[in-house]
Amino acid sequence: MSCKGLSLMSGGLDSQLAIRVLQRAGAEVEAVSFVTPFFDNTKAKAAAEALGVKLHVVDFTADEIALIKNPPHGFGGAMNPCIDCHATMIRRAGELMRELGYDFVATGEVRGQRPMSQNAQALVTVEKTSGLVGRLVRPLSAKLLEPTIPEIEGKLDREKLLDISGRARDRQIALAAEFGIVDYPSPAGGCKLTEEAFGRKLKDLMTHEGLDDRTLVELLLVGRRFRLPDGSGVILGRDGRENALLNRTVAVLSDRHRPAILLMPPTGTPGPTALIPDLKSEADKALAEGIVKAWCRGTGDADRAPFKGFQIL
Ligand code: SF4
Repeated sequence: MSCKGLSLMSGGLDSQLAIRVLQRAGAEVEAVSFVTPFFDNTKAKAAAEALGVKLHVVDFTADEIALIKNPPHGFGGAMNPCIDCHATMIRRAGELMRELGYDFVATGEVRGQRPMSQNAQALVTVEKTSGLVGRLVRPLSAKLLEPTIPEIEGKLDREKLLDISGRARDRQIALAAEFGIVDYPSPAGGCKLTEEAFGRKLKDLMTHEGLDDRTLVELLLVGRRFRLPDGSGVILGRDGRENALLNRTVAVLSDRHRPAILLMPPTGTPGPTALIPDLKSEADKALAEGIVKAWCRGTGDADRAPFKGFQIL
């Protein structure tokens, strides 16, 4: 008997090992990764290609924004709703699993690797909240967990699954060598939501313009940001590429009937373009013009000092 599974793929070592262990246990495996403006799937794509498995890509933006607005389990150190984000990704993978007619979803989670999110109780909670009881396989720790349906049915050889637990990485490193996996990124990093500075910008957008306009959410990755006294937000390009992007974007925002405006540096002076997606007053506009001039070539700290209090760092 054989079975088919869908394995969550971050591109990190554990998600790669999970796939190889499942294949050794008799499963046919495909991978799934998630994308939002806050993280991409570049590493996942490279890993899936190296492993030779098909990668399904799910746009997770609407889910992530809903969780940022209302995270049932709160945030981590920044604006990262990790517990709910992880459980929702597994739930979405479960929906895809049913749609494709596969037998299970898998993850590279290791029991006890993260004290809060991967302890024994947390693994059970995620399985329940994702609606995948009996269909969520953690091949790296499977022998320490209750057998899943594909194991009970004999479609997945439990003897070939593993019993790794804890924070040490030596078994994973040894397994990587055994499977010939040489290219894997460090476990942490890659999600902007975990960065405090990004979190401040996100919170500012959520408070003022809101998170319903995807273009504005994507613009969080661009430019220096200011919030002016009457409530206008200013995005100031940091280089030619960002200035060009702001130039293109103003038309998109104007189409949505925002009073969006673009400010350019004085003629003949190299400097930044500023986009104000929703201008609130003439006083704010005058301040934004001052900001553009203060960041033009040839200016210094003294020119910028009057505006520093408006900058979101
Ligand atoms: S780090 Fe980012 S992508 Fe990962 S679970 Fe947390 S919020 Fe989600």
